Amino acid sequence: MDQVSENIARLKARTGFIAAECRRNADEIHLVAVSKQQPDDRVDAALSAGQRLFGENRVQEAMERWSVRRLLYPGLQLHLIGPLQTNKVREAVALFNVIETLDRIRLADALKAEMVRQEKFLPCFIQVNTGSEEQKAGVSPEDFPALLEHCRSIGLNVTGLMCIPPVNDPPALHFSLLKKIGRAAGLNHFSMGMSADFEKAIPLGATYIRLGTAIFGARV
Ligand SMILES: *Cc1c(COP(=O)(O)O)cnc(C)c1O
Repeated sequence: MDQVSENIARLKARTGFIAAECRRNADEIHLVAVSKQQPDDRVDAALSAGQRLFGENRVQEAMERWSVRRLLYPGLQLHLIGPLQTNKVREAVALFNVIETLDRIRLADALKAEMVRQEKFLPCFIQVNTGSEEQKAGVSPEDFPALLEHCRSIGLNVTGLMCIPPVNDPPALHFSLLKKIGRAAGLNHFSMGMSADFEKAIPLGATYIRLGTAIFGARV
């Protein structure tokens, strides 16, 4: 077996083991293969291994990689996990299946307008800046309720939350906070946990774990 498919098999087994330990159903924990900055042959190895859910953080790079491949793999699911500029909303709505990085009212309005135009109504996750880091994307926990309220008022389909913990903080604190905020708002999906910390995210309620280097190796 090649390295990528071996990694996927190992990570799925590990996810299943942790899910069983914390009495969760492994089927509700989805592995998002983060293919950003990875060579095409590794991505194709993941596709050959049956992986159909991928995350990309840049619209342009994702279009180059996936425009043709998505026609070859009809079950493909693409999540946008990087910041979205309003001038890229058209391409993003056309390409992706879930936008995980909704974080401001202006972007919500632009997404809604574009979804209507394309008649393509994507689920969105709101990215929460749980560490309230100045330079980081995501809505602050304080501003989250108003953003969610706005999304609901315009009919944008928000189904979950996403976070990237600060590098120097224990990630579990941030996963717990994300889940608390989401549950209070009636949301059921939590995109949290990356290669270094997904094992902590599963017991705290992750439904999407975003794994890049653990699957594909170091980015090039
Ligand atoms: C790059 C990236 C990941 C994957 O990171 P790894 O440490 O390689 O698993 C996950 N989420 C986001 C938002 C990313 O930008």
